[in-house]
Amino acid sequence: MTSDEFRKHAHELVEWMAGYMENVENWPVKSSVKPGEIFNKIPDKPPQNSESFDSLMRDFNEIIMPGITHWQNPNFFAFFPANTSPASILAEMLIATLGSQCMIWETSPAAAELEEKMMIWLRDMIELPSEFEGVIQDSASTATLVAILTAREKSTNFSVNTEGLKKSGSLKVYCSEQTHSSVEKAVKISGIGNRNLVKIPVRNDFSMDPQKLKETILRDKNSGQIPCCVVATLGTTGTSAIDPVRAIGEICHDNDIWLHVDAAMGGTALILPEFQWMLDGKEYIDSFVFNPHKWMFTNFDCTAYFVKDVQTLIKTFEILPEYLKTRTRGKVNDYRDWGVPLGRRFRALKLWSVIRTFGVNGLRDKVRSHIAIAAELSEMISEELDFEILAPVTICVVCFRYIPAGHSEDQINALNEKLNHKLNDSGKLYLSHTVLDGRYTLRMVTAQTNVTIDHVRKAWFLIKETARSLIS
Ligand SMILES: *Cc1c(COP(=O)(O)O)cnc(C)c1O
Repeated sequence: MTSDEFRKHAHELVEWMAGYMENVENWPVKSSVKPGEIFNKIPDKPPQNSESFDSLMRDFNEIIMPGITHWQNPNFFAFFPANTSPASILAEMLIATLGSQCMIWETSPAAAELEEKMMIWLRDMIELPSEFEGVIQDSASTATLVAILTAREKSTNFSVNTEGLKKSGSLKVYCSEQTHSSVEKAVKISGIGNRNLVKIPVRNDFSMDPQKLKETILRDKNSGQIPCCVVATLGTTGTSAIDPVRAIGEICHDNDIWLHVDAAMGGTALILPEFQWMLDGKEYIDSFVFNPHKWMFTNFDCTAYFVKDVQTLIKTFEILPEYLKTRTRGKVNDYRDWGVPLGRRFRALKLWSVIRTFGVNGLRDKVRSHIAIAAELSEMISEELDFEILAPVTICVVCFRYIPAGHSEDQINALNEKLNHKLNDSGKLYLSHTVLDGRYTLRMVTAQTNVTIDHVRKAWFLIKETARSLIS
């Protein structure tokens, strides 16, 4: 492709992008293609000769777009969001154009130093203590793996890195029953094993019961096990429950256990002074993760990982083959030693663009509006006798179900499952579900970048109508 052709296509593409953003609400939120439908439309063999970019765009529009679920549609209420914003998209264009691989300081000093500064900005925005240092990871799952590997090395005096797990004894990791599956993945990968992941029961509000945690840890220690890490969550995936950091932290402190906090979604709420209570006990935290790629309008992927003892992190991950020896080593941050991959994208540029164009106050306004919408939705649901709220609404997740009179629990579960599929198949909105105490629960997250109370009012109307039509 010549430079002139690039310029032409790039301009056309920007038109396409702006048009998409303006019209995203007209697309069905959830793609309705069948398994294999897209695969079968793509030729089995690659072209031998050059094709035009125009023909690619034609196929993109005809083949690919019908198979896209539109996460940027404000009627996307499922899972947690993967929000983007114009500022983030523009920065992503620059990142792709530079094409830098930022594995060490020397391979793009600006990327390393901007990342260092952005992590300070974020740390201060969410009010983590100033001892914390941060690094961008690709996902919260990777950050939690990094935390558990670091905790493993710390509790075994770095012997697993050298000797393997054989001599380490039985390490234990603790989290609540509501913790994200990334913790289970991390204990599997780290060699600790998922039998050694202890799921602590939750209280009525679905947060971890610290008394049960304490009893379990003491029992494990008495039987010769080695408690190595506790994972507390701020904003669980099911209901956005907030685990009590202070109570958990005191137990970790007394027993010399690494405390990792998974705030993948909830962390963004910490930019609001009125949510700082979630960090009560923050002096006990060893590592902390949150995802600007969820609720801070920075397109996927961009995870912020903070750690108090950065030397332990680096000691866990550092490698120094001859070809990576540089004259600046030790004077600068070589982020390849701060996590799993060697190669790294220039993600800090997205954060810089987002934080500067929104401003901290702009980010706060957006996040506050999402939280207010969740509160209003929860009130609207509470007013209907044939619906019930199933978990406290702390940030922007509303858990509820339809409970028409005269139906058994099994029938109600089946009805709510049917309701969920029917709503999602309509293309007008997208909800996901969880199961709480045996109840099929609809879960509505009001945190898409551009969601407004009008979207939510319309969605709620559709939910009520559809639910009632199921039994009439
Ligand atoms: C989304 C989420 C994760 C996983 O995040 P990824 O960045 O997709 O790995 C982990 N924990 C919680 C609480 C989450 O909400």
